[in-house]
Amino acid sequence: MARFADFETIAVLGTGVLGSQIVMQAAWHGKQVHAYDAFPEALEGLGARWDWIREGYREDLPDYTPERFDEALARIHPTTDLTEAVGDADLVIEAVPERLELKQEVWRQVGALVPEKALLATNTSSLRPSLFAEDTGHPERFVTLHYANRIWKQNIAEIMTTGASSEEALAGAERFAQQTGMEPVIAHKEVPGYVYNSMLGPLLWSAVELYMSGVSTPEAIDRAWRTGWNTHRGPFQVMDTIGFRTVVAILRSKTDRPALLEFADLLQEQIDRGHTGLADGQGFHRYDADGRRLGPVETWTLRA
Ligand code: NAD
Repeated sequence: MARFADFETIAVLGTGVLGSQIVMQAAWHGKQVHAYDAFPEALEGLGARWDWIREGYREDLPDYTPERFDEALARIHPTTDLTEAVGDADLVIEAVPERLELKQEVWRQVGALVPEKALLATNTSSLRPSLFAEDTGHPERFVTLHYANRIWKQNIAEIMTTGASSEEALAGAERFAQQTGMEPVIAHKEVPGYVYNSMLGPLLWSAVELYMSGVSTPEAIDRAWRTGWNTHRGPFQVMDTIGFRTVVAILRSKTDRPALLEFADLLQEQIDRGHTGLADGQGFHRYDADGRRLGPVETWTLRA
């Protein structure tokens, strides 16, 4: 049998916005999943995340049944013990915050604990995986497996090699994606935004610059995009869905675009007040407990 073909036990590191979705998507497709987080309070908050994800599955997946979702929940094993999480994993997917030093540190710990059989993957959005491939200790079996938010519906899994990753690792990641209901898209060269975000970034940042330069409001910019493209979400709604923490981390790297840096400060103020986007009900828009948009947040007025 090919190497990296049998994915029974998965470990997901970081159970935030994306990690929790990766956990559920794998469990929904029959995998046993260790959901590891360094912070107990993150694991305590998983109940609310399952409620939100359940609502998404119910709305978007024709094969949703409450029983199947409950069975998936029973396959999820939350833990703050890293050895327990990765010690017998066939695949480790890392979804910790988007900070290079943190990813390097986490992978140094994980690399020393993983079994020989484990395929290693990062969900980084904007960091080059080759910057921490060596930290894993096993760069030949390390690739990216990058998901888009609302992964059960926007079901792309972007796989990127670092130059050091083997063909076997690439093929393994593609197989896992297919086994878990994802559409694999391979980036054959290392590019910071993969395929999808390389296209999405320019949309989001031009929306931000329109707002910051006082041309229009987030509400109107979103409406323009929704109407013109006949779609459900505009760029600020996309940022609500991504979550402000991740958006800020990406914006901070745009050091040559002052308006984006200034905008990151505005988002940080919101985060400090407990408003981080759709996950907690308020970003540029307000959302109900099921994630339905209720209306714009009035404080995002036209800038002078
Ligand atoms: P998040 O802040 O929502 O979640 C991060 C989680 O990691 C938190 O639960 C936190 O407690 C935990 N954590 C912090 N330090 C840790 C450590 N040392 N070990 C284990 N867990 C730790 O972030 P997110 O939005 O889920 O993003 C996570 C990763 O996924 C980032 O690399 C991001 O670029 C990527 N990503 C995010 C999105 C998105 O739409 N949010 C989409 C694709 C990829």
